[in-house]
Amino acid sequence: MDGDAAGAPLGYTDRIRLAGAPLPVISPVRFYVCGITPYDVTHLGHAATFVWADAAAAVLRLAGADTVTCRNVTDVDDVLTRAAVERGRHYDEFALEQEYLFGRDMSALRVRRPTHEPRARHHVWQVVQLAAALLAAGRAYERGGAVYFRGCDVPASAGLALDDAERRCAEFGDEPDDPARDDPFDVAVWRPSAADEPGWPSPWGRGRPGWHAECAAMALGVLGAAVDVLAGGEDLAFPHHAYQAAMVEAATGVCPFARAQLPVGTVRAHGAKMAKSTGNLVLVSDLLRDHPPAAVRLLLLDRVWHRSWDHTAAEVERAAARLERLYSAAGTTTASPASVDAVTAALVDDLDVPRALGVAEEEGGEAARLLLRTLALA
Ligand code: ZN
Repeated sequence: MDGDAAGAPLGYTDRIRLAGAPLPVISPVRFYVCGITPYDVTHLGHAATFVWADAAAAVLRLAGADTVTCRNVTDVDDVLTRAAVERGRHYDEFALEQEYLFGRDMSALRVRRPTHEPRARHHVWQVVQLAAALLAAGRAYERGGAVYFRGCDVPASAGLALDDAERRCAEFGDEPDDPARDDPFDVAVWRPSAADEPGWPSPWGRGRPGWHAECAAMALGVLGAAVDVLAGGEDLAFPHHAYQAAMVEAATGVCPFARAQLPVGTVRAHGAKMAKSTGNLVLVSDLLRDHPPAAVRLLLLDRVWHRSWDHTAAEVERAAARLERLYSAAGTTTASPASVDAVTAALVDDLDVPRALGVAEEEGGEAARLLLRTLALA
């Protein structure tokens, strides 16, 4: 061991557990957070994903690691193009406006700005390279100006039955019933674009990237062939994250693409997942009009991160009351070094915020202050 490093505290980098398994880390820890498609308002379900990813990175820094975070913006997407057309707007200008509103909600919720915020439109050439690499590896084929990734084994590796997988692929626009493909689970890495659609030149003609390929290319371009943590809403686990990982692994041979996944639980309202079509969206901007940002953050964080839950007005009130108790506890001078250690130990144990909160409230003093600082609640 080198002179100055001898005797230096290790921190907790060898004691981290995430998603139910040990995740010993070596700095910097690489986080890929699956970001927004900027075509609509930010609701509480989106906020849950980004606040949890933010908190997870903060916990890793508390453990003694450096973090590099990458949260993409999917600004090339058919959903976005359609939404812009409906509003009579140009898709680029419309996306920038939505991105600004999202950024405003995130900073209000004290979500730290990611180290990298790649935009899909700036990584199109890397999608072209990814498609070329997949073709060279025999894992993709070109047909009619499109490049399809061979994905017949992806549902099984995600542990899904074929009918369930097919339903989800259809729901997320992968068009499993498109007869141009060899297999329903082949997905587009590259697609031809009509004259009025966004498009870029490629060896296969003018076209645009597929969604999963965009995130694969942005992760490759920014963080390299593997990441430590892949975070996103649990509804994105399949097909999006499964295909993103499968494409990167097939193109690079590096496996697994993600050492750990952070599929954040869905937020429901009135018994259903929040969706514009259901009319049950709870907007972050509305909540922030009536409640302090720290109370909204605590509402999201005072629970098991991967469990889905129902939002109610009473839950926000409960979070606000708990926050007040924490502030009172933080004002006391007690708290043993053991209680400070217990807060850290709970947080690195699969982000057990409820346990850490219990210790902080009970012991007060530095234990509470450490928790408030780490979770950006102060
Ligand atoms: Zn993604």
